[in-house]
Amino acid sequence: MKSRLIVNGAAGRMGRRIVALSCEDGGFEIVGAAERGDHPEIGRDAGVLAGVGEVGVSLGSEYPSDADVMIDFTWPGVTDDVIAHCVSNGISLVIGTTGLSDEQQEGLVKASERIAVVYATNMSVGMNVLFTLVAKAAQMLGEEYDIEIVEAHHRFKKDAPSGSALSLAESVAEATGRDWPGCLVHGRQGGDALREKGSIGMHAIRGGDITGQHSVIYSTLGETVRLSHDAHNRDNFVHGALRAGLWLRGKEAGMYTMKQVLGVE
Ligand code: NAD
Repeated sequence: MKSRLIVNGAAGRMGRRIVALSCEDGGFEIVGAAERGDHPEIGRDAGVLAGVGEVGVSLGSEYPSDADVMIDFTWPGVTDDVIAHCVSNGISLVIGTTGLSDEQQEGLVKASERIAVVYATNMSVGMNVLFTLVAKAAQMLGEEYDIEIVEAHHRFKKDAPSGSALSLAESVAEATGRDWPGCLVHGRQGGDALREKGSIGMHAIRGGDITGQHSVIYSTLGETVRLSHDAHNRDNFVHGALRAGLWLRGKEAGMYTMKQVLGVE
């Protein structure tokens, strides 16, 4: 049986790809494609807008009440309504919207007493695998290996380092008992920049249209180990969100992580 899916933010960059790839997946039936009421594409078929042909669901500003799961990539101004709708209609929720306030994150935890929720600021399957691998590698290699993280993104990215690079560093710090975030050294410059043992070096490259690259480098006398992830486009997040959406089918109420979706926790 297919999961009846509401795509929230269906005309957005992520939303359109969720519509497109959920049609290919075969595990979903789109029953709702929601957008803000004043969006110029309201009324248009969501599949046509996503470039995959008619799916028979028009973009609308109301959420259907009869659905199994909602996938939300919108903005935090919408999150309270999303939570309220899913809770009152027993709809599972995959939420990838970033920038949620502490109160909204608490709201999600409260909602998870009633419905099943996956919340992750990085839904990429590969990156979530990497979060686990970098911690394991740091433990296995031991303290003689200096750890440096290099990330590269497009020239338009405002923040540095990326949230994902920080999550990689935090995974390593937590697994190896380093002081967090005190162990971080951002870039290195000057005549007195000798590497401090136990620190994690963090380096951000910005240029062109690089989608996202992350490398964790473990180097000691005699060898270097590198664990890397390259995002080719945004579909890596979409595949993760869809995997989470299918995984939630039949799950009890609770707050679940991408690691649980991937079966490593
Ligand atoms: P976007 O601006 O292209 O799309 C957001 C869409 O939400 C827009 O079409 C907008 O009209 C719509 N929207 C606004 N108000 C709405 C409402 N009331 N109801 C329904 N839809 C509404 O942005 P995007 O690039 O698709 O990213 C969306 C969010 O997902 C951002 O918070 C971004 O940071 C996050 N994101 C998360 C991940 C992850 O892995 N967790 C990956 C990529 C993006």
